[in-house]
Amino acid sequence: MNACLEFNQVAKRYGSVRALAGVELAVAAGSILALLGPNGAGKSTLFGCLLGLIRPSRGEVLWQGQPIRDADRRAVFGYLPERIALYPHRTVRDNGLFFARLKGHPPAELERQLKRVGLYAAQDRPVRQLSKGMLQRLGLALALCGQPQVLVLDEPFNGLDPALLDGLQGILQEEHARGATLLISTHTMSAIEPLATHAAILLEGRLAARGSLGELRAQHGEDSLEAVYHRIARRQRSREREEVIA
Ligand code: ADP
Repeated sequence: MNACLEFNQVAKRYGSVRALAGVELAVAAGSILALLGPNGAGKSTLFGCLLGLIRPSRGEVLWQGQPIRDADRRAVFGYLPERIALYPHRTVRDNGLFFARLKGHPPAELERQLKRVGLYAAQDRPVRQLSKGMLQRLGLALALCGQPQVLVLDEPFNGLDPALLDGLQGILQEEHARGATLLISTHTMSAIEPLATHAAILLEGRLAARGSLGELRAQHGEDSLEAVYHRIARRQRSREREEVIA
């Protein structure tokens, strides 16, 4: 595998809470990795460690075989957080320009991405008037600015109606086709299944499974990622019940 990103024994503790327990994961260049796991499994923490927003307690993340420097991060990553912090009384355009400038993108690039996500006509509206789906699209436009090599999307399908979901899947396919690597955390199996090339299943801060979709389906004797996920999560729950009884 030609890995562009490597998580080497990445661990994170928040006081007594162990959020990540030594995650070891290589991400193939140009792949679409689905990061699956229940709430609290550590998905956002793993993304935070990748993006330099969270300092791991142990381990490191490598980009092209080297530790990532902050200067690289700005150029390499586009990030859609689960909840984006914006200035509610300022317009879509003003908010967009603020973030675009921070990352060194020209206004024309913001305009291009706003058109692409279907938000250009709403650019003079204050952000507080936007629906959840529109906010999600604004966040996506900001993440897409500058054609990042890696797109990191935390729960991107939340709050989207079927038409928006279809539009987002199309854009993600275009990003994949231009060679970007995508890391997507989600609970929406029906949306990720047709997109993902690889998946990693995180349970209680540990990777319970990882591989290409074909490998995972074959290994677990299931015909869908959703069925693989439920099989692994069920196994973990019954193990926990046995531990409680013992
Ligand atoms: P996920 O994104 O899979 O829902 P998170 O990475 O948000 O999981 O959380 C993993 C674990 O770490 C959870 O038990 C969560 O409560 C805990 N956690 C996350 N952020 C913090 C924090 N800032 N302080 C303390 N505990 C945290």
